[in-house]
Amino acid sequence: MPASPIPLHTPHCIVGVIGGGQLGRMIALAARRMGIRTVIWTGGLEAPAVEVADEVIDLPFDDTVALKDFCNRITVATVEFENIPRATLEAVAASAPLHPSPRAITISQNREREKNFLRENKIPHTWFAVISSSADLAAAMKELNGPGVLKTADFGYDGKGQIKLEGTEDPEKIWAVFDAPRGVLEAWVPFEKELSVMVARGADGEMVTYDASENRHRHHILDVSIVPARISPAVALEAAAIARRVAEALGYRGILGVEFFLKSDGTLLVNETAPRPHNSGHHTLDACATSQFEQQLRAVIGLPLGSTRLLSPVVMLNLLGDFWQNETTPPNWVPLFEDGEAYLHLYGKRRAIGRRKMGHANFLAATPEAALSRAEAMKEMWLD
Ligand code: AMP
Repeated sequence: MPASPIPLHTPHCIVGVIGGGQLGRMIALAARRMGIRTVIWTGGLEAPAVEVADEVIDLPFDDTVALKDFCNRITVATVEFENIPRATLEAVAASAPLHPSPRAITISQNREREKNFLRENKIPHTWFAVISSSADLAAAMKELNGPGVLKTADFGYDGKGQIKLEGTEDPEKIWAVFDAPRGVLEAWVPFEKELSVMVARGADGEMVTYDASENRHRHHILDVSIVPARISPAVALEAAAIARRVAEALGYRGILGVEFFLKSDGTLLVNETAPRPHNSGHHTLDACATSQFEQQLRAVIGLPLGSTRLLSPVVMLNLLGDFWQNETTPPNWVPLFEDGEAYLHLYGKRRAIGRRKMGHANFLAATPEAALSRAEAMKEMWLD
């Protein structure tokens, strides 16, 4: 048992969540079930979490009144997305316990810091160079001498702010269209699969990992996660060991997503980390003994961690806005309910625009392949 867990009895334990997106919503739902109160600080952004939170602070992250109010109302704080101003994180941490720490969050929110962290801690990653001018880019492209991808250092996710390079382009022209002051050039990885591992680290340094997810993307956005990933036991063990090393090196507390490229020779390279619940961990809601959201609450409050046991093979299908018949009309859910072992999770977003994440569905089956074929059939029907 941790030395001094925060009292769990309502209303003593109030978890403050910085950010009000779908991850915050699912944290708040888990909290409701456990009798834990939540205060959601939305940052003034659209916030699916507000419908299920106990209390809401609907003001920007740089609002000093909101900061004081948030810290006064909570026992412990956490985040549901990483792109929160560093000053806000540090100010919260100065008045309330914040898990994960501002250091861990700020490393993940910036690719330059994240890559340097991986390098310093000898965690396997792809070759990279930091770029802040066309001269830097020219030198790095020369050194790389092959295909790569130029990514913005700040605020990049789901393939945003990335330019794929063959290696023969004119660096001046690329830099002129690259819309950011700093970036990272990475070597292109000819991967066989993309994987992720969710790892949770508790108050006393205890760690648990979930089975690896095998992730497939559509238009740079996660499409399906297949669990367990179809990989060898040795690769599964190695991915879990690397995820633990990342959490340990960050001095992490909470749930952390570690994304990997798996090459055909079995080599694993860390692509990026997410200091929060992760889209590729949504299957845990229906297919694991403890969901990633409950695990996050356990870790940040200081309770013992729960079992990560996979109860059934599962495929998580992201439900993006382009599945909707129009902005306000969802797809026909009847076939999903008829499936009997498919579970719908909607985030309560009012308008379905383009590739917005509107929800997800978890398909359980005796094998990952059987779950995948049902998920794919459903997707094709909706996209038709
Ligand atoms: P990211 O935003 O870094 O997660 O990148 C989005 C997606 O682009 C990844 O999930 C990969 O499919 C692809 N990608 C990113 N970096 C690389 C790389 N260095 N080599 C190959 N594919 C990449």
